[in-house]
Amino acid sequence: MNMQMTDLKVQYARIREEVDRAIAEVVKDAGFILGKPVELLEREVAAYHGTAFAVGVASGTDALVLSLAALGISQGDEVITTPFTFIATAEAISRVGATPVFCDIDEATCNIDASLIGKKITGRTKAVIPVHLYGLSSNMAAITAAARKKGLKIVEDCAQSFGSRCDGKTCGSIGDCGCLSFFPAKTLGCFGDGGMIVTNDRALSERIKVLRNHGSAAKYMYCAHGYNSRLDTIQAAVLRVKLRLVDQWIEERRANAAYYDERLSRIPGIRLLSVPSNCRHTYNYYTIRIPERDRVQKALQEKGIPSMVYYPLSLHLQEVYKGLGYKAGDMPAAEKAQAEVLSLPMYPELTHEQMDLVINALKASL
Ligand SMILES: *Cc1c(COP(=O)(O)O)cnc(C)c1O
Repeated sequence: MNMQMTDLKVQYARIREEVDRAIAEVVKDAGFILGKPVELLEREVAAYHGTAFAVGVASGTDALVLSLAALGISQGDEVITTPFTFIATAEAISRVGATPVFCDIDEATCNIDASLIGKKITGRTKAVIPVHLYGLSSNMAAITAAARKKGLKIVEDCAQSFGSRCDGKTCGSIGDCGCLSFFPAKTLGCFGDGGMIVTNDRALSERIKVLRNHGSAAKYMYCAHGYNSRLDTIQAAVLRVKLRLVDQWIEERRANAAYYDERLSRIPGIRLLSVPSNCRHTYNYYTIRIPERDRVQKALQEKGIPSMVYYPLSLHLQEVYKGLGYKAGDMPAAEKAQAEVLSLPMYPELTHEQMDLVINALKASL
């Protein structure tokens, strides 16, 4: 059996006719840049999140960059975030000229430890970026309390958490804005790069719309140094088809995660991550912890079972952030996680037979 971490071909097979038709319509209309499907998708994604506005951009990374830029964050400012995330989170902070300030994670969930945020706040701190890692919401109540006390903005990195919820609210609708990624392997992915910002702040959404289109509010009139960062019409058309099915796919992911959970929780040497009862996990990735991770991953590989490490080196220890002066030992929980986490194959169409292969291979290698 040829198993993958995520299988985009089987998903395409489920929606092929509808998606092909949607793409063909865009090609026929030739409205490739900011065509009608972009605006329709923005409305639908805003409605999905219960937010008033949504703005399509070229990627999840750009969603973060444009959000920070539109919030006026720049040189000399500090933004607090987790070191245990994809580089794009911190990269966006650096890209607008600000400084990422890393705050260690909570060992049970691998998300930012909200109880440590207060100590990281200085006179220069402007915002916090919680990342809902793997599809599990961060502790938004505690983060909101810590941020509001000091007047900090909250930019949610929802790249891995489409459809996730916290206290009944959809992730992305809780902070000042939420940044979505439509990278193909995300829970809601397009056929290339794409992203979106959801927000209830009209002024913020309008500034982002100006920034994504070269700083132009009216044709050939420029009021800001902007970007070329629009969501392609073709991608929006694909996403409109998928959006109608995404809740069903999330339920399939959750059922697969429950199947894994039940069987893996009984295996000594494997630890499941905690899922707080107020959170709806959407399992963009299904991740466990294994103290002997490297040896086990190698054994899986020899059996042809794919697995991935998200992420092998915490961002505070990356070469690109050498200048910030962090050293090994500064973020003990993140450094422990980088040595122990292992993500297993996870996608809606994954079968029990396939998961049994993964589970049995894990058992045999422990
Ligand atoms: C994927 C991802 C991003 C970036 O999204 P792109 O669409 O690939 O630019 C940002 N943050 C996190 C946590 C991600 O997983």
